[in-house]
Amino acid sequence: MRRSSGIAIAVAVGSVAVVAPIWISIQLAWNEALANAKSRVQNHASLLVRRSEEAESQLNHAKSLLNAVHFPPCSPEEVALMQQLAVTSNYIQAIGRVSYNQLTCSSLRTSAPIDIGPANLITENGAEERFNVWIFKAQTHPLLVISEDGLAFIVDSSLMEDLPETGPGITVGIFVPSQRQPDLISTANGGIPTSWLRTIPKGSSTTFLDDGYVVSIVRAQQADIAAVAAYPSIYIGQQLQPFAFIFIPLGLICACGLAWAVAHISRIRLSLPAALRSAAKRKEFYVEYQPIINLETLRFVGAEALVRWRRSGRVVRPDEFIPAAEESGVITLITACVAEIVAADLPHLLAIDPDFHIAINLSGPDFLTTDTVNLLRDVLATSHARPCNLHVEATERCFLQADHSRWMIALIRSLGIAVSIDDFGTGYSSLSCLETLGLDALKIDKSFVETIGTDGATSQVVPHIIDMAHSLELVIVAEGIETATQASFLRSRGVHFAQGWLFGKPMNLASLCASLHAQQAVESTKVLG
Ligand code: C2E
Ligand code: CA
Ligand code: CA
Repeated sequence: MRRSSGIAIAVAVGSVAVVAPIWISIQLAWNEALANAKSRVQNHASLLVRRSEEAESQLNHAKSLLNAVHFPPCSPEEVALMQQLAVTSNYIQAIGRVSYNQLTCSSLRTSAPIDIGPANLITENGAEERFNVWIFKAQTHPLLVISEDGLAFIVDSSLMEDLPETGPGITVGIFVPSQRQPDLISTANGGIPTSWLRTIPKGSSTTFLDDGYVVSIVRAQQADIAAVAAYPSIYIGQQLQPFAFIFIPLGLICACGLAWAVAHISRIRLSLPAALRSAAKRKEFYVEYQPIINLETLRFVGAEALVRWRRSGRVVRPDEFIPAAEESGVITLITACVAEIVAADLPHLLAIDPDFHIAINLSGPDFLTTDTVNLLRDVLATSHARPCNLHVEATERCFLQADHSRWMIALIRSLGIAVSIDDFGTGYSSLSCLETLGLDALKIDKSFVETIGTDGATSQVVPHIIDMAHSLELVIVAEGIETATQASFLRSRGVHFAQGWLFGKPMNLASLCASLHAQQAVESTKVLG
């Protein structure tokens, strides 16, 4: 990854890390405020319905009493009872007898008939309703008259609509939902369009947003009545405040945390190549050697040089820095460090076993320059080793440009140094590619070796790789052997060399020399014996 594109990605990820938590927190605060406003509007409409039902039950009670006593209509006894009932009910203002749109007698004690006008609607129960009745001189708002079987009940619906929660723009209304096109029979503060008056099933409710209002409709369980309440959305804004005080600071904290994490990770990632470059200068790299054995004799015949980085007292494993080193090209400096160390160590090993070999790992960028060939030549010259004492392991990623790779392999082999393909099967290499590269050996990756003796989907891959390598007459090395079962399977299949914890973990030069000395001691005892 180039540095500029790395910075661009870091800036993009960082921006998302800052904006996303703040945006999410605003959304959360808005959703909470909206849910809160919806529940308040719904409570408002429910309360209105409950009061309407209460008024309806007072009305039914008065009606059944008046019908039960069988007083002659408009008799003094009936008018007296009407007065008594009107006084004891808090919603009924007056009761009377109605005929031809006139109150012929009533609890109001007027002798002349009172004109109440024609009915606005007839409910599903057969009751007539008049919404706009003006009876008293001092009246400030219209009254509602509900009449049935000749009895009329004058109701002040504003008493029902007088709810505890009021505020600018809050409107409420009552309507008869059984109507084909419902209209308000009463409203406080006005401003309720008929399009909001939806007919919903009995006992249910609905809440929706429309035209800058949160609207709720609640329908009574029994009575043919429904209430509508509407709050302007400014009200949601007011509700937003307490939630915003909680969510937005939380969002800001998350944003800061995420931005810090992105900045921290990008700083590490972007600065890793620079750190590796100075580590190469300061010689912070060292090498451990992992033995390679002959599977027939179990002798140590060679070892792979595995680089380590001692960074501020901590040992960094190659997996943590090799990918970044390969991406940035710094790997060539690391390869040079490893080569220099191997050149210094080889004479110690060859003094014990002159046929011993060390394998050096090469990466893609090493394969792009002939400096690598010169480097290998220098190792041989400095260490006075023979070409057979040095091997090269190149991963499949080195061979992306087949023609160039073939040429590089030929150059290295012209020095007499053997070249193996490393991690075979984990990358892009094909059989046809293997045939033409002119390699000496194939190294089976430990990810395949660990499937030996298991039911895993890739457990059949190892025999195939072995057969293929045999047909191409390549030497086979298997890595990552941890069990005797894996070792005997590979031996039975004709694999020549092996490497793994079963035989030896990566170790320093002194330990490797000690192991070689011990091996020689055993062998000379056998010869003498
Ligand atoms: P690799 O070349 O495939 O090396 C084998 C890795 O497997 C090593 O890990 C080794 O320690 C580990 N290993 C060996 N036997 C066993 C075993 O029986 N069980 C298990 N679980 N692991 C085993 P290491 O040293 O961490 O190296 C990781 C990779 O880093 C290497 O994979 C190689 O790709 C890269 N690397 C290491 N040193 C160098 C180097 O000097 N140059 C380059 N270009 N790459 C290197
Ligand atoms: Ca290797
Ligand atoms: Ca491997």
